[in-house]
Amino acid sequence: MKLFILISALAVFGVSWAEQLRYDNHTVYKVLIENENQLTIVKHLSTLPNGYNLWKPFHGVGSDAHIMVSPKMKSAFDSLMKLNDFGTEVLIENVQSLIDEESSSYKRDATFGWTSYHSLDTIYDWIDDIIAEYSNIVTPFVIGKSYEGREIRGIKISSKDGNPGIFIETNVHAREWITSATVTYFINQLLTSDRAELKNMRENIDWYIIPVYNVDGFVYSHEKDRMWRKSRQPVSGSNCMGADINRNFDSHWMENGGALSDPCAETFGGPKPFSEPEAQALADFVTNIQDKINIYLSFHSYGQYLLCPYGHSATELPTNYADLLEIGKAAADAISRPYGTKFTYGSTGSVLYVASGTSVDWMFNERNIKVGWTFEFRDKGRYGFVLPATHIKPNAEEAVEGVIALVEKSSALGYL
Ligand SMILES: [Zn+2]
Repeated sequence: MKLFILISALAVFGVSWAEQLRYDNHTVYKVLIENENQLTIVKHLSTLPNGYNLWKPFHGVGSDAHIMVSPKMKSAFDSLMKLNDFGTEVLIENVQSLIDEESSSYKRDATFGWTSYHSLDTIYDWIDDIIAEYSNIVTPFVIGKSYEGREIRGIKISSKDGNPGIFIETNVHAREWITSATVTYFINQLLTSDRAELKNMRENIDWYIIPVYNVDGFVYSHEKDRMWRKSRQPVSGSNCMGADINRNFDSHWMENGGALSDPCAETFGGPKPFSEPEAQALADFVTNIQDKINIYLSFHSYGQYLLCPYGHSATELPTNYADLLEIGKAAADAISRPYGTKFTYGSTGSVLYVASGTSVDWMFNERNIKVGWTFEFRDKGRYGFVLPATHIKPNAEEAVEGVIALVEKSSALGYL
């Protein structure tokens, strides 16, 4: 009977686990970039469509990249590294073994909770439950449709008129599953907790939250390719698919190498700003309510960073940077409290890498939302994107502490 149900479900959804891409013996290396020659080589590797996949981008000489290498490219990769005196370290020996562990705890019809990762359908069902259960303060919204026609849904939590607003967008990068798992935990805490700080945030702030922003990519990452990052819109003239939605916003688009013009790159900025319907939909939605939004947050993984504008430059800093640093420090301190997890904070361009055309920068520059933060959650590369589900709760607890501190410091500095 169980087998029958499984087969029927697969037939209905057109999904077969056997069709999933496998990552047997794919290895993730940390590669140190110590000179210009090495930088050129890593840049080249990061745009090759087959055999290499950039997990953690780099920001030049003195930084490091995390690169997944397929078994068939390993000997070529090894030679290249040796020939050019690279320092390397193996972070993950076999990516497939992590995916296997993850999928053994992954249940399509699991009751909602924070001990396993969930599909888009399950998350949307949970949102429907929340809307029904807390109908006095929760209302649904849809910002628009994805390229493949899925609704990009969100909820607004509002206890009274006239509150300042905070917008949270998560899972723009499809493979960063910890982000939507964390935000649903956050929503649950916000709605149910008796803790004074959370009650205060529930009653005196309006929350606009999109739990899964890149819906097409997210479904694809569950059903076909666990390592998918981008949108699912074809690129004319290329065999590579999709753009990085978080490099597609029309603010310093494609400047300073903060996105790539090669459609095969993980950080492809798209053929033009707002070429991706998802980016355009979010921009339009926020434009309509921009006077109501004081803080904009975007949840990502991994690396344990808190990143504020600007992304487009390593040296240019916003005029309120001193305030942003105070807010970042408060949030990082709070995040470290439960488990000692260390987050680094500062501007994206100066702390991590130049990233142009991001949603946070667009909101900051074009919609005057002067507190904007990207959270890069756990970990630092031990598991990377395939963070075991046992990390969901602790990561989410840290995020709750971080957001509380961020809100309190922003309020003290007059931003709310
Ligand atoms: Zn990301």
